Amino acid sequence: MHLSEILTHLGEERGQYYNAVSPPVIQTSNFTFSSLGEFRQAFTNELTHHIYSRGNNPTVAILRQKLAALEGAEDALVFASGMGAISAAILANVEAGGHVVCVESPYSWARALLRDYLPRFGVTTTFVDGREMANIGNAIRDNTTLLYLESPNSLTFELQDIRACAELARHRGITTILDNSYSSPVFQRPLSMGIDIVVHSGTKYLNGHSDVVMGVLCASKAIVLRIFEREYMTLGGILPPHDAALAIRGLRTLELRMHRSNESALKIARYLGGHPKVAKVLHPLLPSFPQYELATKQMEGAGGLFSIYLKADSLEKAEAFYNNLEHFLLAVSWGGHESLVLPSAAFYNIPGKADPAMPWNLVRLYIGLEDPDWLLEGLEKGLAHV
Ligand SMILES: *Cc1c(COP(=O)(O)O)cnc(C)c1O
Repeated sequence: MHLSEILTHLGEERGQYYNAVSPPVIQTSNFTFSSLGEFRQAFTNELTHHIYSRGNNPTVAILRQKLAALEGAEDALVFASGMGAISAAILANVEAGGHVVCVESPYSWARALLRDYLPRFGVTTTFVDGREMANIGNAIRDNTTLLYLESPNSLTFELQDIRACAELARHRGITTILDNSYSSPVFQRPLSMGIDIVVHSGTKYLNGHSDVVMGVLCASKAIVLRIFEREYMTLGGILPPHDAALAIRGLRTLELRMHRSNESALKIARYLGGHPKVAKVLHPLLPSFPQYELATKQMEGAGGLFSIYLKADSLEKAEAFYNNLEHFLLAVSWGGHESLVLPSAAFYNIPGKADPAMPWNLVRLYIGLEDPDWLLEGLEKGLAHV
């Protein structure tokens, strides 16, 4: 289906609501039936019938259809946060006494779930450098049920060979989950490469306006139904209809936003690659990136996120960069309209947060929708102090 069809029309049955162009927010907890027979019929499938909004809500259902189509999936579920989707997908595929193989630097709270939380229930995880297929193959045990991937990750952008991972896992009867937040479905479609479940922080590009926290899970009808009946209904971390309506609005411009951020980020990353105050640029689609070839094979673009290492000889010089920078906001997250910097130095010496993968001169930049030349002016204000 054409991207334009998905973003503009799919799932929107306008005849059902006065031919309104924008879908209504069906702000209701429950739905009524005209007969016992109808009531009974609805309970044959809570995923498709309107009974109670923890299960199915018409506004949320429009969003689900669009997200599934974007990933080329049969169905999708949306959650109250990316971690809601990630934890549901992981919990659906582990069991006591079982084992997970996960890439080394996934999103920090996904790592916390696997490393710190699931051992309480008898599930252990081996973290491996997923840039080498051999590491993944060697970590798989007889009791491995799940391979958890994030390609690229959202700080240093290590990739996995998605097709090779999917094939290896399929061969061994292991389910694969891939966090596709970095690329969005506009630039990478892991299900078409053999992955079983794609998860997203919809907070980032999919909503795209820094005003909703949400999560997405895309998979086959069978997998979605199984997760709906277990993790989705029991844990109850659902997306409210009002947030779903905001996300539908955000999706209207997904393609435009992705291309704008992608082009601006490439322009700025290339410029910074030759800058005397920048030691190194990490961007998957720059030829200097160690996995550039793999990136061009499985990604059609990179969006707005990349990192730089400042050529700063002291923490004070790095601090001066942040405190003199203009036009960027100092904040976590990314994928909205606004350009951001995430300073690794913010985690410096904080117990439990400091991470060897995040030296204090590492700066993650997110390039939003502003004019890239104006953003460069703001960056130069900071770099002049390094
Ligand atoms: C933000 C993020 C998450 C978590 O999503 P929330 O919506 O914040 O729960 C997961 N994965 C990646 C790559 C992220 O950037």
